[in-house]
Order: sequence, then C-alpha cells, then structure tokens
Amino acid sequence: MAVDSILSSPLGPPACEKDAKALQFIEEMTRNADSVQENVLAQILTRNAQTEYLKGLNLNGATDRETFKSKVPMVTYEDLQPLIQRIANGDRSPILSAHPVSEFLTSSGTSAGERKLMPTIKEELDRRQLLYSLLMPIRERIGQRQRPLLLVHQIGNRNSGWAPGPTRSLTSYYKSDHFKTRPFDPYNVYTSPNEAILCPDSFQSMYTQMLCGLYERQQVLRVGAVFASGLLRAIRFLQLNWQHLTEDIRTGSLNPKVTDPPIREYMTRSIRPDPELADCITKECSKENWEGIITRIWPNTKYLDVIVTGAMAQYIPTLDYYSGGLPKACTMYASSECYFGLNLNPMCKPSEVCYTIMPNMAYFEFLPHEPNNSPGSTPPSQLVDLADVEIGKEYELVITTYAGLCRYRVGDILRVTGFHNSAPQFQFVRRKNVLLSIDSDKTDEAELQTAVENASKLLREFNTSVVEYTSYADTKTIPGHYVIYWELLSKDSGNSPSKHVLDRCCLAMEESLNSVYRQCRVADNSIGPLEIRVVRNGTFEELMDYAISRGASINQYKVPRCVSFTPIMELLDSRVVSAHFSPSLPHWTPERSMKKRIK
Ligand code: AMP
Repeated sequence: MAVDSILSSPLGPPACEKDAKALQFIEEMTRNADSVQENVLAQILTRNAQTEYLKGLNLNGATDRETFKSKVPMVTYEDLQPLIQRIANGDRSPILSAHPVSEFLTSSGTSAGERKLMPTIKEELDRRQLLYSLLMPIRERIGQRQRPLLLVHQIGNRNSGWAPGPTRSLTSYYKSDHFKTRPFDPYNVYTSPNEAILCPDSFQSMYTQMLCGLYERQQVLRVGAVFASGLLRAIRFLQLNWQHLTEDIRTGSLNPKVTDPPIREYMTRSIRPDPELADCITKECSKENWEGIITRIWPNTKYLDVIVTGAMAQYIPTLDYYSGGLPKACTMYASSECYFGLNLNPMCKPSEVCYTIMPNMAYFEFLPHEPNNSPGSTPPSQLVDLADVEIGKEYELVITTYAGLCRYRVGDILRVTGFHNSAPQFQFVRRKNVLLSIDSDKTDEAELQTAVENASKLLREFNTSVVEYTSYADTKTIPGHYVIYWELLSKDSGNSPSKHVLDRCCLAMEESLNSVYRQCRVADNSIGPLEIRVVRNGTFEELMDYAISRGASINQYKVPRCVSFTPIMELLDSRVVSAHFSPSLPHWTPERSMKKRIK
C-alpha cells in the first residue's frame, strides 16, 4: 500500500519508518480481512492436517472454508480436555498441533474447578510480539509514546507455592526473549526493571517496582498495570508499605525483606539516598485522604494504561478516585488461547472502547448470541465469518488457532460497533455465565449455589436454613471481596447459629469456590475475605416488591443471584442484621501436577 494512503487513513500519520510499517500492516490486514482469514485457515489446516484431531475429522487434506465448516464441530474446553491432558502427561505425538508444544499457559477460566491448561507453540510468541509492536504507532499518533511507564506486573508468587510449569500468557511473554532482549527504545522505558518484573515473589517484585517508580516520580508520564484490579492492588501496596519505601529512599538502603539476588544486584547499582524525595512522598502518603494520590505522587501522569473493559469496568470509580479522573487507555484484547486484537483509539472513554480483531492472529468465527437461547440451541452452521458480522449484533467468539484449537468457544460475548476498513470492531460485552469476578476469578451461578449449599450445612444443627441469597462484588475495598446476602430461617430461636458459626460459613463458601478464586485469595492476595451479610426476615420479599413496582412480572420474577443496582444495594444494606468475614484463608495448592512437563 502507498504511504499516502496511510497518511489519509483514520489511523493518522506515522512518526518514523518503523511506525509507518506497523500502520501499513494494520491497514493491509484490516482492508483485506476476509482474504487474510481465508489464508490463515488454509495455513492452519495445511500445517495441522496430520494431527490426530484433524485426521479424525476426515478432512482429507482439504483447506477450504466449506469443507472445514461442514466437518469440524464447534467445541468447548471440556470437549478437548482429555486430549490436552494427554499432551500434559507427556504424549509428544501431534495431537492438536503439528508443531511441538512449547509450554502450557493457564487460563483464568476453570473447568471442574481447576484452571484451564492451554498448550501453545513457540511461534505464537512471535505473533503476540507482533501485536505488541503494533501498539506503539497507535500510541504515537495520539501523542502517547514518549513517556516512561510505571508498570506493575508480577509473574507469580514463590512464597505461596506458585510452581514452575504452566504459566499465564503475559508471564510467558515477560519471561520470553522477546521481552527480555527487546531492543532499547528510549521512548518506551519502564520504570520497573526486568529483575523486578521477573521476580517470582510477589512482595519483592511489587516492592522493587514501587521503589523504582517512586525514584522516578517526576519522569513517570503514564501509570499502568494489565488490569484495573492490579493497579489498585499496587495502590493498596503503597498504602501498606510507604513507610518502609520512604525509609529506603531516605537512607539509600534496600529493605532486608527483599532478598532476591538479581534484584539486590540491580538495586545496589541504582539506589541512592534522597531525603528530599522521601519527605515529599511521606507528606502525601501520611495524609488521611488518598484522593488523587496517583497524580500527587506522580505529578506528570497523563493517563492510566490499564484495561477497564468487561469485568474491570467495576473499578472505574475507584481508579477515578485515586487518579483524579485521569483518562484510561485500554489497548489490547487477548487471552491464553490467542491474542485477538487492538483498540485503535486507546484514549476514548471506557464506555466507547472497541477492539479491532486482527485477522492474521487466528481464524475467527462468531456464534450469534441470543440471550434467551438455551445453551447449544444455535447450530454451528450459523457461525458467521469475521467480515460478515453485523453492526449492533452480539456474538460469542469462536477461534481456530495455529496451536491447534479448532472452532473453540472462548466464552466471550462481543457486540459489533463498527468497522475499520473491512475488519469489524467489537465492544467487549461480558464473559458468558460469569456472576462474580474481582480479579481473574470467574464465579458462575451454579458454583455460587453449590457454595451456599455447602456452607449452609453448618447451619443444620441449629435448625436453620438459608431461604434466599444474592451476591455482590464489593470493589470499594482493596482488594475487593465477595459479599453474599443471606436471609435465614431459624426454626429454633433459642438455638440460632452463633457469630463463630456464621464466620465459618464464610470460609466454607470459599472452600467450595474454584481454584482461581482460592489462588487469588491465598497466593495473589487479590481478593479479600468473603463476607456474609445476614439480612432480616422478609428482605427478599421486599426486593421482589421493588422489582414488581419497576415493572417485573410476578410470575416470572426470579431472585437475582448477583446485584449491583444502587437502590437494591441500599435496600439490602439497610436490612443487614450482622456481617461476617472468613476467619482464615481457604485451602489452595499450586496447579494439579503435570506428570511430565513439556520442555
Ligand atoms: P485468560 O484466559 O486468563 O488470559 O483471560 C482471557 C479473558 O480475559 C478473555 O477471554 C476475556 O474474557 C478477558 N479479557 C481479556 N482482555 C480483555 C479486555 N481488553 N477487556 C475485557 N476483558 C478482557
């Protein structure tokens, strides 16, 4: 494509030749979305033709869309789980992918309470790197580039037993040579040193990143983490640790709790006493009111680089509180299965964020989503191709990847908002079947129901039962936590359950929730203790009256299992008779053992 057509393209003028190439690539991919997709499918089917999976579907070497659509079924993780487990157990035969599996990524989605394992291949990292490289020129054109970043990312938690083996997709990127040996770019420098980002101990990693970010408080022009919940955790960390951090800055010494040798070596070279800086940070952090703390500590911050779409939207008010309403740039839409696309206008309002799926990343199909359809009622023949989706409609994303997933349901519901050239742009609507989410946890209605049932067993000896319940993701506390409202029926008023018993019910609920929830609680400290708020009798009837007064039909009324609407919250909270918190951490151990790890 000629350069002048890029200049006049909606992406605006590039700043240098490298940027011009990246913008040109975006333009080429999006102008030819359908033919790129056709090629991607042909490439995937050709290279994986001899895999056990495709051979079993009798494609007989066909690589065209029609044959693919007629012979390949749409699947979920559960369908593939036995094959994935075989790979995890060390079977090196080409099961899903002709290319050797290089590592397992863990998805935050769960299957039977365990994190999903996602086999990946080496070249996927190149594809992901390519997507990252496209972000810079997009930032550049909106004047965001020449700004160091306070990056808050942690790759795991050694203390709590995070085992080597399956990694999260971003961790895999940070551990890769793509990140570690990235060419120096003076305009894209993180204040966080690699040594801190790569340290598997979450306290030491965060402490060092925060310390380095504080030293460079005047230079920091954007503050970021991957997800909003992570950034708020960093603020909470500052709240808890600013005294130690300022002490280190004052004296030029490193907190003895930081023992990681690579970090200590790095910090020995860079730490210096700066009493003036320590005084300045102490002055801000010791104030009771932390409103606008981000811009008070890092006065030149222009925006937050953080995802606030989907489940993360619930953190926008808190981010606004701590940042004085700074803009929030959501740049990328990605998953362990595949990186999907980019936001070509990252400085737009959170409510307007839409992601352009890059047609070179995988083969994308879309299952029309009718909220009232029963699961599985849409036949796969109705799957729509990337270039054929319709503006305003909602779809579930279905992918076929180079790593060997074929017509795999990701579980995300997307709405088409428009097109960039011939590539559609999508608003992230929600994750299917997720009721509660604080961090990477995703709790659905069935899990919540089971957790309530298990916990309420503790009430039996008191002749008490849970007659109604609902839930709420409380993100006003840091970390956020699950709140479960319980209405109890006690048949023996002289023997009602004590505070101690109800506290234990909180823990029993946590023990019943999936492993991602428990990992967030135990290892990542990204979810606070679960809370049960007991409401007085008749509260749920009042809730129904309220819904009916707003037009709900009495015959169809169902108790909402999750609430967030302010008047309903106010009603529930005004009826609370006692509140209880989980007294200790639930049980959690690192991933199930993989008998043989892929090298
Ligand atoms: P994981 O498999 O743990 O990497 O999580 C991937 C999931 O996170 C996606 O399928 C989405 O549900 C969610 N996600 C990723 N990026 C975004 C985004 N930009 N906005 C909203 N949700 C996202």
